[in-house]
Amino acid sequence: MTMSFNGFHRLYYIISIALLLQPPSAIAGDSILSRFQQYLQINTSHPSPNYHQAADFILSQAKSLSLESRTIEFVKNKPLILLKWPGKNPDLPSILLNSHTDVVPVEPHKWSHPPFDATIDPENGNIYARGSQDMKCVGLQYLEAIRKLKDSKFEPLRTIYVSFVPDEEIGGLDGAKRFANSKIFDEMNVGIVLDEGLASPEDKYRLFYAERRAMSLVIKATGAPGHGAKMYDNTAMENLLKSIESVRRFRASQFDLVKAGVKAEGEVISVNMVFLKAGTPSPTGFVMNLQPSEAQAGFDIRVPPIADHDQASLERRIAEEWAPASRNMTFEIRQFKQKDSGKPILTAYDSSNPWWTLIEEAIVKAKGKIGKPEIFPASTDARYFRMKGVHAIGFSPMANTPILLHDHNEFLNKEEYLKGIEVYESILKAFASFVEAKNGEDSLGDEL
Ligand SMILES: [Zn+2]
Repeated sequence: MTMSFNGFHRLYYIISIALLLQPPSAIAGDSILSRFQQYLQINTSHPSPNYHQAADFILSQAKSLSLESRTIEFVKNKPLILLKWPGKNPDLPSILLNSHTDVVPVEPHKWSHPPFDATIDPENGNIYARGSQDMKCVGLQYLEAIRKLKDSKFEPLRTIYVSFVPDEEIGGLDGAKRFANSKIFDEMNVGIVLDEGLASPEDKYRLFYAERRAMSLVIKATGAPGHGAKMYDNTAMENLLKSIESVRRFRASQFDLVKAGVKAEGEVISVNMVFLKAGTPSPTGFVMNLQPSEAQAGFDIRVPPIADHDQASLERRIAEEWAPASRNMTFEIRQFKQKDSGKPILTAYDSSNPWWTLIEEAIVKAKGKIGKPEIFPASTDARYFRMKGVHAIGFSPMANTPILLHDHNEFLNKEEYLKGIEVYESILKAFASFVEAKNGEDSLGDEL
Protein backbone atom coordinates (compact mmCIF):
# COMPACT_ATOMS: atom_id res chain seq x y z
CA MET A 1 0.00 0.00 0.00
CA THR A 2 1.29 3.44 -0.85
CA MET A 3 0.35 6.56 0.96
CA SER A 4 0.53 10.20 -0.01
CA PHE A 5 2.64 12.49 2.11
CA ASN A 6 -0.60 14.07 3.27
CA GLY A 7 -2.11 10.73 4.17
CA PHE A 8 0.99 9.78 6.11
CA HIS A 9 0.81 13.08 7.95
CA ARG A 10 -2.78 12.53 8.88
CA LEU A 11 -2.04 9.02 10.18
CA TYR A 12 0.88 10.34 12.22
CA TYR A 13 -1.43 13.02 13.62
CA ILE A 14 -4.06 10.46 14.61
CA ILE A 15 -1.49 8.26 16.36
CA SER A 16 -0.08 11.24 18.23
CA ILE A 17 -3.53 12.28 19.43
CA ALA A 18 -4.25 8.70 20.45
CA LEU A 19 -1.08 8.64 22.54
CA LEU A 20 -1.91 12.00 24.09
CA LEU A 21 -5.36 10.79 25.03
CA GLN A 22 -3.91 7.89 27.02
CA PRO A 23 -3.40 8.92 30.61
CA PRO A 24 0.36 9.10 31.34
CA SER A 25 -0.06 6.58 34.15
CA ALA A 26 -1.36 4.00 31.66
CA ILE A 27 1.72 4.44 29.48
CA ALA A 28 4.02 4.17 32.51
CA GLY A 29 2.04 1.13 33.68
CA ASP A 30 2.58 -0.54 30.33
CA SER A 31 6.34 -0.17 30.48
CA ILE A 32 6.36 -1.37 34.09
CA LEU A 33 4.46 -4.46 33.00
CA SER A 34 6.65 -5.06 29.99
CA ARG A 35 9.75 -5.01 32.20
CA PHE A 36 8.08 -7.58 34.47
CA GLN A 37 7.25 -9.70 31.42
CA GLN A 38 10.84 -9.52 30.18
CA TYR A 39 12.14 -10.82 33.51
CA LEU A 40 9.54 -13.61 33.59
CA GLN A 41 10.45 -14.66 30.06
CA ILE A 42 13.98 -15.58 31.14
CA ASN A 43 13.89 -19.28 31.91
CA THR A 44 15.62 -19.64 35.26
CA SER A 45 13.99 -22.95 36.12
CA HIS A 46 15.94 -25.77 37.67
CA PRO A 47 17.85 -27.92 36.94
CA SER A 48 19.66 -25.50 34.59
CA PRO A 49 18.57 -21.96 35.33
CA ASN A 50 19.74 -19.32 32.88
CA TYR A 51 21.35 -17.21 35.61
CA HIS A 52 23.55 -15.18 33.30
CA GLN A 53 20.66 -13.90 31.23
CA ALA A 54 18.80 -12.93 34.41
CA ALA A 55 21.94 -11.20 35.70
CA ASP A 56 22.31 -9.22 32.47
CA PHE A 57 18.69 -8.12 32.68
CA ILE A 58 19.00 -7.00 36.31
CA LEU A 59 22.25 -5.18 35.61
CA SER A 60 20.61 -3.30 32.74
CA GLN A 61 17.78 -2.29 35.05
CA ALA A 62 20.29 -1.15 37.68
CA LYS A 63 22.05 0.95 35.07
CA SER A 64 18.81 2.65 34.07
CA LEU A 65 18.26 3.45 37.75
CA SER A 66 21.84 4.67 38.32
CA LEU A 67 22.33 2.12 41.10
CA GLU A 68 25.77 0.81 41.96
CA SER A 69 26.06 -2.85 41.09
CA ARG A 70 28.34 -5.78 41.53
CA THR A 71 28.19 -9.40 40.48
CA ILE A 72 29.42 -11.91 43.04
CA GLU A 73 30.02 -15.56 42.24
CA PHE A 74 30.47 -17.41 45.51
CA VAL A 75 30.16 -20.44 43.27
CA LYS A 76 31.07 -20.30 39.61
CA ASN A 77 28.16 -19.68 37.24
CA LYS A 78 25.80 -18.89 40.10
CA PRO A 79 25.90 -15.10 40.03
CA LEU A 80 24.46 -13.06 42.86
CA ILE A 81 23.69 -9.47 41.89
CA LEU A 82 24.05 -6.85 44.59
CA LEU A 83 22.74 -3.33 43.94
CA LYS A 84 23.29 -0.32 46.14
CA TRP A 85 21.55 3.02 46.57
CA PRO A 86 23.80 4.86 49.01
CA GLY A 87 22.10 6.66 51.85
CA LYS A 88 22.98 10.12 53.13
CA ASN A 89 24.03 8.62 56.44
CA PRO A 90 26.03 5.50 55.62
CA ASP A 91 26.71 4.89 59.32
CA LEU A 92 23.12 3.86 59.95
CA PRO A 93 22.28 0.16 59.53
CA SER A 94 21.18 -0.50 55.97
CA ILE A 95 18.11 -2.06 54.38
CA LEU A 96 18.41 -5.23 52.31
CA LEU A 97 15.74 -6.19 49.78
CA ASN A 98 16.32 -9.82 48.89
CA SER A 99 14.79 -11.97 46.17
CA HIS A 100 15.82 -15.14 44.38
CA THR A 101 16.21 -15.34 40.62
CA ASP A 102 15.60 -19.07 40.23
CA VAL A 103 12.22 -20.75 39.82
CA VAL A 104 11.00 -24.32 40.13
CA PRO A 105 10.56 -26.53 37.04
CA VAL A 106 7.34 -26.66 35.01
CA GLU A 107 5.27 -29.24 33.20
CA PRO A 108 4.48 -27.00 30.21
CA HIS A 109 1.69 -29.19 28.80
CA LYS A 110 -0.31 -28.71 32.01
CA TRP A 111 -0.35 -24.93 31.65
CA SER A 112 -3.10 -22.94 29.96
CA HIS A 113 -0.51 -20.39 28.79
CA PRO A 114 3.16 -21.15 28.05
CA PRO A 115 4.99 -20.74 31.39
CA PHE A 116 7.79 -18.55 30.04
CA ASP A 117 5.75 -16.31 27.74
CA ALA A 118 4.34 -14.12 30.52
CA THR A 119 1.10 -13.71 28.63
CA ILE A 120 -1.30 -11.13 30.02
CA ASP A 121 -4.85 -12.44 29.68
CA PRO A 122 -6.79 -9.53 28.13
CA GLU A 123 -10.01 -10.70 29.81
CA ASN A 124 -8.87 -10.39 33.42
CA GLY A 125 -5.34 -8.95 33.43
CA ASN A 126 -3.72 -12.06 34.91
CA ILE A 127 -0.03 -12.45 34.05
CA TYR A 128 0.73 -16.15 33.62
CA ALA A 129 4.31 -17.28 34.20
CA ARG A 130 6.49 -19.43 36.41
CA GLY A 131 7.93 -16.98 38.92
CA SER A 132 5.03 -14.52 38.70
CA GLN A 133 4.38 -15.21 42.42
CA ASP A 134 7.61 -16.91 43.49
CA MET A 135 9.28 -14.50 43.31
CA LYS A 136 10.26 -12.47 40.28
CA CYS A 137 7.36 -10.15 41.08
CA VAL A 138 8.98 -9.05 44.32
CA GLY A 139 12.45 -8.61 42.80
CA LEU A 140 11.17 -6.24 40.14
CA GLN A 141 8.70 -4.49 42.44
CA TYR A 142 11.68 -3.48 44.60
CA LEU A 143 13.29 -1.90 41.53
CA GLU A 144 10.10 -0.23 40.31
CA ALA A 145 9.54 1.27 43.78
CA ILE A 146 13.11 2.61 43.68
CA ARG A 147 12.40 4.04 40.22
CA LYS A 148 9.37 5.90 41.56
CA LEU A 149 11.26 7.19 44.59
CA LYS A 150 14.11 8.40 42.38
CA ASP A 151 11.64 10.11 40.05
CA SER A 152 10.16 11.91 43.03
CA LYS A 153 13.68 13.07 44.04
CA PHE A 154 13.54 11.10 47.31
CA GLU A 155 16.91 10.70 48.98
CA PRO A 156 17.35 7.81 51.42
CA LEU A 157 19.00 8.44 54.73
CA ARG A 158 19.89 4.76 55.07
CA THR A 159 21.60 2.81 52.34
CA ILE A 160 19.31 0.49 50.42
CA TYR A 161 20.75 -2.75 49.03
CA VAL A 162 18.92 -5.03 46.61
CA SER A 163 20.17 -8.61 46.25
CA PHE A 164 19.18 -11.09 43.58
CA VAL A 165 20.35 -14.49 44.74
CA PRO A 166 20.55 -17.90 43.02
CA ASP A 167 19.51 -21.37 44.17
CA GLU A 168 16.80 -20.61 46.77
CA GLU A 169 14.63 -23.35 45.34
CA ILE A 170 17.34 -25.94 45.96
CA GLY A 171 18.17 -24.85 49.49
CA GLY A 172 20.12 -21.63 49.02
CA LEU A 173 23.43 -23.15 50.06
CA ASP A 174 25.36 -21.57 47.18
CA GLY A 175 23.27 -18.41 47.29
CA ALA A 176 21.82 -16.72 50.36
CA LYS A 177 23.64 -18.95 52.83
CA ARG A 178 27.08 -18.07 51.51
CA PHE A 179 26.04 -14.44 51.13
CA ALA A 180 24.73 -14.12 54.71
CA ASN A 181 27.94 -15.66 56.02
CA SER A 182 30.27 -13.54 53.89
CA LYS A 183 32.48 -10.60 54.77
CA ILE A 184 30.58 -8.63 52.13
CA PHE A 185 27.38 -9.07 54.10
CA ASP A 186 29.04 -8.13 57.39
CA GLU A 187 30.35 -4.94 55.85
CA MET A 188 26.88 -3.98 54.64
CA ASN A 189 25.78 -3.52 58.27
CA VAL A 190 22.22 -4.67 57.50
CA GLY A 191 19.51 -3.70 59.98
CA ILE A 192 16.51 -5.22 58.25
CA VAL A 193 15.96 -7.73 55.45
CA LEU A 194 12.82 -8.05 53.40
CA ASP A 195 12.34 -11.43 51.73
CA GLU A 196 9.50 -13.45 50.25
CA GLY A 197 6.09 -14.16 51.72
CA LEU A 198 3.00 -15.81 50.28
CA ALA A 199 -0.05 -14.76 48.31
CA SER A 200 -3.28 -14.26 50.21
CA PRO A 201 -6.65 -15.29 48.78
CA GLU A 202 -8.21 -12.64 51.03
CA ASP A 203 -7.84 -8.88 50.88
CA LYS A 204 -5.19 -8.88 53.63
CA TYR A 205 -1.47 -9.02 53.01
CA ARG A 206 0.52 -11.57 55.01
CA LEU A 207 3.66 -10.80 57.03
CA PHE A 208 5.97 -13.61 58.20
CA TYR A 209 8.29 -13.37 61.21
CA ALA A 210 9.70 -16.90 61.27
CA GLU A 211 9.50 -20.16 59.40
CA ARG A 212 9.14 -23.81 60.11
CA ARG A 213 12.26 -25.89 60.12
CA ALA A 214 12.56 -28.80 57.74
CA MET A 215 13.42 -32.23 59.11
CA SER A 216 13.56 -35.48 57.27
CA LEU A 217 12.90 -38.73 59.02
CA VAL A 218 13.51 -42.24 57.72
CA ILE A 219 12.26 -45.13 59.80
CA LYS A 220 13.35 -48.66 59.16
CA ALA A 221 11.78 -51.89 60.33
CA THR A 222 13.43 -55.29 60.31
CA GLY A 223 12.05 -58.72 60.98
CA ALA A 224 12.51 -62.32 60.07
CA PRO A 225 11.65 -63.03 56.42
CA GLY A 226 9.07 -65.68 55.75
CA HIS A 227 6.90 -67.44 53.23
CA GLY A 228 4.13 -65.30 51.82
CA ALA A 229 1.53 -67.69 53.18
CA LYS A 230 2.79 -67.79 56.76
CA MET A 231 1.10 -65.80 59.58
CA TYR A 232 3.61 -64.75 62.24
CA ASP A 233 4.39 -61.78 64.47
CA ASN A 234 7.01 -59.07 64.11
CA THR A 235 7.41 -59.01 60.35
CA ALA A 236 9.14 -55.89 59.04
CA MET A 237 6.01 -54.94 57.11
CA GLU A 238 3.75 -55.31 60.11
CA ASN A 239 6.10 -53.32 62.34
CA LEU A 240 6.34 -50.56 59.79
CA LEU A 241 2.57 -50.42 59.38
CA LYS A 242 2.10 -49.96 63.12
CA SER A 243 4.47 -47.00 62.98
CA ILE A 244 2.76 -45.48 59.98
CA GLU A 245 -0.55 -45.77 61.83
CA SER A 246 0.95 -43.92 64.79
CA VAL A 247 2.41 -41.17 62.58
CA ARG A 248 -0.92 -40.87 60.80
CA ARG A 249 -2.76 -40.28 64.08
CA PHE A 250 -0.32 -37.56 65.06
CA ARG A 251 -0.63 -35.96 61.63
CA ALA A 252 -4.42 -35.93 61.91
CA SER A 253 -4.28 -34.33 65.38
CA GLN A 254 -2.15 -31.49 64.01
CA PHE A 255 -4.22 -31.08 60.86
CA ASP A 256 -7.43 -30.97 62.95
CA LEU A 257 -6.08 -27.91 64.79
CA VAL A 258 -5.61 -26.15 61.45
CA LYS A 259 -9.00 -27.23 60.11
CA ALA A 260 -10.70 -26.01 63.29
CA GLY A 261 -8.97 -22.65 62.94
CA VAL A 262 -7.27 -23.06 66.32
CA LYS A 263 -3.81 -22.82 64.79
CA ALA A 264 -2.36 -21.48 61.54
CA GLU A 265 -0.56 -23.82 59.16
CA GLY A 266 2.83 -22.52 60.27
CA GLU A 267 2.09 -23.15 63.95
CA VAL A 268 1.68 -26.91 63.84
CA ILE A 269 4.08 -29.76 63.13
CA SER A 270 3.36 -31.22 59.72
CA VAL A 271 4.33 -34.80 58.91
CA ASN A 272 3.87 -36.16 55.41
CA MET A 273 4.99 -39.53 54.14
CA VAL A 274 7.12 -39.11 51.03
CA PHE A 275 8.35 -42.61 50.31
CA LEU A 276 7.81 -46.26 51.07
CA LYS A 277 10.47 -48.79 50.30
CA ALA A 278 9.99 -52.52 50.74
CA GLY A 279 9.69 -55.76 48.86
CA THR A 280 12.09 -58.08 47.09
CA PRO A 281 12.46 -57.08 43.42
CA SER A 282 11.99 -59.67 40.68
CA PRO A 283 12.41 -59.29 36.89
CA THR A 284 8.68 -58.64 36.56
CA GLY A 285 8.08 -56.53 39.68
CA PHE A 286 8.26 -58.04 43.15
CA VAL A 287 8.56 -61.52 44.56
CA MET A 288 5.02 -62.23 45.73
CA ASN A 289 5.43 -65.27 47.98
CA LEU A 290 8.02 -63.73 50.26
CA GLN A 291 7.57 -61.41 53.23
CA PRO A 292 10.67 -59.14 53.20
CA SER A 293 13.04 -58.70 56.12
CA GLU A 294 13.28 -54.92 55.75
CA ALA A 295 10.89 -52.06 55.12
CA GLN A 296 11.39 -48.29 55.20
CA ALA A 297 9.30 -45.15 55.13
CA GLY A 298 10.42 -41.55 54.73
CA PHE A 299 8.69 -38.45 56.08
CA ASP A 300 8.97 -34.73 55.50
CA ILE A 301 8.49 -32.99 58.84
CA ARG A 302 8.12 -29.24 59.34
CA VAL A 303 8.54 -27.89 62.83
CA PRO A 304 7.57 -24.39 63.96
CA PRO A 305 10.26 -22.44 65.81
CA ILE A 306 10.00 -24.09 69.19
CA ALA A 307 11.96 -24.23 72.38
CA ASP A 308 14.43 -27.00 73.15
CA HIS A 309 12.08 -29.01 75.35
CA ASP A 310 9.44 -29.19 72.60
CA GLN A 311 12.07 -30.36 70.19
CA ALA A 312 13.17 -32.97 72.72
CA SER A 313 9.60 -34.20 73.11
CA LEU A 314 9.23 -34.63 69.35
CA GLU A 315 12.43 -36.64 69.27
CA ARG A 316 11.20 -38.76 72.18
CA ARG A 317 7.93 -39.39 70.33
CA ILE A 318 9.91 -40.62 67.32
CA ALA A 319 12.07 -42.89 69.44
CA GLU A 320 9.24 -44.29 71.58
CA GLU A 321 6.20 -44.38 69.30
CA TRP A 322 7.21 -44.05 65.67
CA ALA A 323 10.33 -46.18 65.59
CA PRO A 324 10.69 -48.05 68.89
CA ALA A 325 13.60 -50.40 69.28
CA SER A 326 11.16 -52.80 70.95
CA ARG A 327 9.61 -53.32 67.48
CA ASN A 328 13.01 -53.84 65.85
CA MET A 329 12.99 -50.37 64.42
CA THR A 330 15.68 -47.79 63.83
CA PHE A 331 15.44 -44.24 62.56
CA GLU A 332 17.49 -41.47 61.08
CA ILE A 333 16.73 -37.78 61.44
CA ARG A 334 18.25 -35.13 59.26
CA GLN A 335 17.57 -31.59 60.23
CA PHE A 336 18.59 -28.06 59.82
CA LYS A 337 20.28 -26.98 63.04
CA GLN A 338 19.01 -24.14 65.14
CA LYS A 339 21.41 -21.56 66.46
CA ASP A 340 23.88 -22.88 69.04
CA SER A 341 21.95 -21.11 71.77
CA GLY A 342 19.07 -23.46 71.05
CA LYS A 343 16.73 -20.48 70.95
CA PRO A 344 14.11 -20.44 68.22
CA ILE A 345 15.04 -18.27 65.25
CA LEU A 346 12.48 -15.56 64.79
CA THR A 347 12.06 -11.85 64.19
CA ALA A 348 10.19 -9.93 66.89
CA TYR A 349 6.82 -8.71 65.71
CA ASP A 350 5.88 -6.44 68.59
CA SER A 351 6.82 -2.88 69.46
CA SER A 352 10.30 -4.03 70.50
CA ASN A 353 11.07 -4.22 66.80
CA PRO A 354 10.65 -0.76 65.20
CA TRP A 355 10.89 -2.25 61.69
CA TRP A 356 7.75 -4.28 62.31
CA THR A 357 5.83 -1.19 63.38
CA LEU A 358 7.19 0.72 60.39
CA ILE A 359 6.20 -1.88 57.82
CA GLU A 360 2.69 -2.19 59.23
CA GLU A 361 2.21 1.56 59.21
CA ALA A 362 3.65 1.90 55.72
CA ILE A 363 1.36 -0.78 54.29
CA VAL A 364 -1.69 0.84 55.85
CA LYS A 365 -0.56 4.21 54.53
CA ALA A 366 -0.53 2.69 51.02
CA LYS A 367 -4.12 1.54 51.68
CA GLY A 368 -3.20 -2.11 52.21
CA LYS A 369 -4.72 -4.36 54.87
CA ILE A 370 -2.67 -6.78 56.98
CA GLY A 371 -3.49 -10.11 58.61
CA LYS A 372 -1.93 -11.26 61.87
CA PRO A 373 1.79 -12.10 61.92
CA GLU A 374 2.50 -15.61 60.67
CA ILE A 375 5.07 -18.37 60.60
CA PHE A 376 6.00 -19.33 57.04
CA PRO A 377 4.98 -22.98 56.58
CA ALA A 378 8.03 -23.89 54.46
CA SER A 379 11.59 -22.59 54.17
CA THR A 380 12.93 -19.43 52.57
CA ASP A 381 16.30 -17.69 52.39
CA ALA A 382 15.17 -15.41 55.24
CA ARG A 383 16.34 -18.04 57.72
CA TYR A 384 20.00 -17.47 56.83
CA PHE A 385 19.69 -13.78 57.67
CA ARG A 386 17.75 -14.48 60.87
CA MET A 387 20.44 -16.96 61.92
CA LYS A 388 22.90 -14.08 61.72
CA GLY A 389 20.74 -12.22 64.21
CA VAL A 390 19.37 -9.79 61.62
CA HIS A 391 15.65 -8.93 61.52
CA ALA A 392 13.98 -10.43 58.44
CA ILE A 393 10.37 -10.03 57.39
CA GLY A 394 8.74 -12.25 54.77
CA PHE A 395 6.40 -10.25 52.57
CA SER A 396 5.11 -10.59 49.01
CA PRO A 397 2.40 -8.01 48.31
CA MET A 398 -0.21 -10.27 46.72
CA ALA A 399 -3.71 -9.95 48.18
CA ASN A 400 -6.85 -11.35 46.52
CA THR A 401 -4.63 -13.94 44.86
CA PRO A 402 -4.80 -17.75 45.02
CA ILE A 403 -1.61 -19.37 46.34
CA LEU A 404 -0.05 -20.87 43.22
CA LEU A 405 3.65 -21.01 43.96
CA HIS A 406 5.16 -24.17 42.45
CA ASP A 407 1.74 -24.96 40.90
CA HIS A 408 0.59 -25.09 37.28
CA ASN A 409 -0.78 -21.82 35.84
CA GLU A 410 0.99 -19.63 38.38
CA PHE A 411 -0.20 -16.07 37.83
CA LEU A 412 -0.39 -12.62 39.34
CA ASN A 413 -2.93 -10.03 38.35
CA LYS A 414 -1.40 -6.90 36.84
CA GLU A 415 -3.36 -4.61 39.16
CA GLU A 416 -2.04 -6.49 42.22
CA TYR A 417 1.47 -6.21 40.82
CA LEU A 418 1.16 -2.46 40.28
CA LYS A 419 -0.42 -1.99 43.71
CA GLY A 420 2.49 -3.90 45.27
CA ILE A 421 4.93 -1.36 43.83
CA GLU A 422 3.08 1.46 45.63
CA VAL A 423 3.22 -0.57 48.84
CA TYR A 424 6.99 -1.03 48.54
CA GLU A 425 7.38 2.66 47.73
CA SER A 426 5.68 3.44 51.03
CA ILE A 427 7.75 0.86 52.94
CA LEU A 428 11.07 2.03 51.50
CA LYS A 429 10.25 5.63 52.27
CA ALA A 430 9.55 4.71 55.90
CA PHE A 431 12.53 2.36 56.29
CA ALA A 432 15.05 4.62 54.57
CA SER A 433 14.00 7.66 56.61
CA PHE A 434 13.89 5.91 59.96
CA VAL A 435 16.04 7.30 62.74
CA GLU A 436 16.18 5.56 66.07
CA ALA A 437 15.80 8.18 68.79
CA LYS A 438 18.81 8.49 71.08
CA ASN A 439 16.77 8.58 74.29
CA GLY A 440 15.55 5.09 73.69
CA GLU A 441 12.26 6.11 72.12
CA ASP A 442 11.80 5.29 68.47
CA SER A 443 10.74 8.00 66.13
CA LEU A 444 10.33 8.53 62.46
CA GLY A 445 12.80 10.78 60.74
CA ASP A 446 11.57 13.79 58.88
CA GLU A 447 10.32 12.94 55.45
CA LEU A 448 13.25 13.82 53.26
ZN1 LIG B 1 10.48 -18.40 46.58
